[in-house]
Amino acid sequence: MKKEQKRYKEKGYSHFGKFTVECPTCKKNATVSHEYSYNNSVITCAHCSYQRTTEDFIFYKAIVNINCPNCGKTIHQERGKLKEKPKKYLVTCPECSISLTIKPRTEKYILTGKVQGIKHDPIFGFPLWYQSDIRGNLFWGYNREHLLEIQAYVESELRERHWKYGMSMVERLPQFIKDSKNREIIVKTIDYLLKK
Ligand SMILES: [Zn+2]
Ligand SMILES: [Zn+2]
Repeated sequence: MKKEQKRYKEKGYSHFGKFTVECPTCKKNATVSHEYSYNNSVITCAHCSYQRTTEDFIFYKAIVNINCPNCGKTIHQERGKLKEKPKKYLVTCPECSISLTIKPRTEKYILTGKVQGIKHDPIFGFPLWYQSDIRGNLFWGYNREHLLEIQAYVESELRERHWKYGMSMVERLPQFIKDSKNREIIVKTIDYLLKK
């Protein structure tokens, strides 16, 4: 009996434009998307109307790293979670107690609520909606299209490569997904996740 061979054709990076995540308010599925750059991103939830842009998650950190002009002691201090870019920083030398107002070095960052052991979107750090444990491995997809592409790959026995530039989606997949003994459970997990 001849087994029908399914062909898998790689589509490339179509799935990197948006990420399906868990809404921080209603815990249903929401979408993180961006235009041109990650600095121009938005999270939108169709269930509860939650919406935030990059601007809402931007915070500043003030860093002071100087030698005290009075006693020479190194003063290193940091203050984070600042909504405005800090122009001044009041430091007190721990050695001689002199107080100084100086212009700190600043860092801009996006405040995320990342938790250990799960996968998050790469922009805001919300938990990905599509993730599940497969035999002790964390299986995840950025969105439906990404899951469908992994599923098509796993189901295929004959693989055709059409991606010429850089590492392909398939090459970057973890080994447990490529392992043929996991094929069935991965396909089932994806079916389950897609119905979530
Ligand atoms: Zn919501
Ligand atoms: Zn001092």
